[in-house]
Amino acid sequence: MDSCSQRIEDHPSIQLASQLIACPSISPEDAGAQPILRNRLTACGFRVKSLDVDGVTNTWAEHGEKGPLFVFGVHADVVPSGDVSDWTSPPFEPTIRDGFLYGRGAADMKGPLAASVIAAENFIKKHRGNSPMRVGFIITGDEEPVNNHGTQDVLDWLASEGKTIDYCIVTEPTSASTFGDTVKVGRRGSINGFLTIHGKQGHAAYPELALNPVHRGLWVLHTLAERLWDPGDAHFPAAGFQITNVKAGTGAANVIPGKFEVQFNIRHGTGLTVEAVDKLVSEALSQAGLSFDLKCASDALPFMTRQGRLADICCEVIQEYAGIQPARATGGGTSDARFIAPHCGELIEFGLVGGTSHHVDEHVSAEDLIRLTDVYERVLDRLSVSIEGE
Ligand SMILES: [Zn+2]
Repeated sequence: MDSCSQRIEDHPSIQLASQLIACPSISPEDAGAQPILRNRLTACGFRVKSLDVDGVTNTWAEHGEKGPLFVFGVHADVVPSGDVSDWTSPPFEPTIRDGFLYGRGAADMKGPLAASVIAAENFIKKHRGNSPMRVGFIITGDEEPVNNHGTQDVLDWLASEGKTIDYCIVTEPTSASTFGDTVKVGRRGSINGFLTIHGKQGHAAYPELALNPVHRGLWVLHTLAERLWDPGDAHFPAAGFQITNVKAGTGAANVIPGKFEVQFNIRHGTGLTVEAVDKLVSEALSQAGLSFDLKCASDALPFMTRQGRLADICCEVIQEYAGIQPARATGGGTSDARFIAPHCGELIEFGLVGGTSHHVDEHVSAEDLIRLTDVYERVLDRLSVSIEGE
């Protein structure tokens, strides 16, 4: 549509995004966000199924009777706002200033969620029930916290119904600095390490009677942080080791601590495994003569998506529409794409510039949100033409 012919705040994507931002949907609270979406999709002819589990709100919606199934993978929950007084305008009062829409979730991902709904509505109106493909939505209220009852529960239900997904766009904020500069075609994995280095507590004045686990532990940790864990490859950047939590000491100034607890996190590609990390960290600690307990666990495996027609169409549309050739990347944090990808023919992630996601004063360019709506709609159009032409 021609965004110049109307006020930005009147665009349906901005209006729906604003309605959603006004719902403080911090998981497991939905705060009215999904009922807005359910009503809207029902009115557009979607068959809507509530898949609420243990107080978490999830929705499956599907339109059409025939053809391959295209799905938008979205979440309606947001991270907490932090101290509200740090915000220029209240986090759950959507506000447009200087062409930017402000509010918690504007980028991640209520803005893109709204864009996907408006794009699907436009697509369905155009086809008047004669689309060669079905369109669906997986909407979860449990993406931001620990993924107890979210996308995976919806996928389980789809499997029990014998439904398979052919194409999926997850609308996470993937653009790095300019709208359209990046689509995600996989994600890094994430390994957490829980380490306790044992020493012997004692008086700071009598170190010969104690064993300080911090001193040598710090030295080993430094070598681990400097290590090249995995150089990366054509699809994944080099792995990065980060110490995330440390704890030692009794709080008293004159007591040598008896133990040193450390947590670390490694984001990695397909070249590194949890077993390899466990082995390498254990070896470094043993070589330094340290007594320790170590537990390493993966909380997300790395994956690459199968790329074909959908990735090509999406990149083509972005190039034509935004004049930029998107990079096909795998960096950044994890997302629910990792759950959907194994159950899906082709998956990509594409959304807005995510620089302010999870930050105070989260915001997106209102123009970009309108452009995202247009890109999603064109991708649906072109994918359906491509399917029809088979
Ligand atoms: Zn997100």
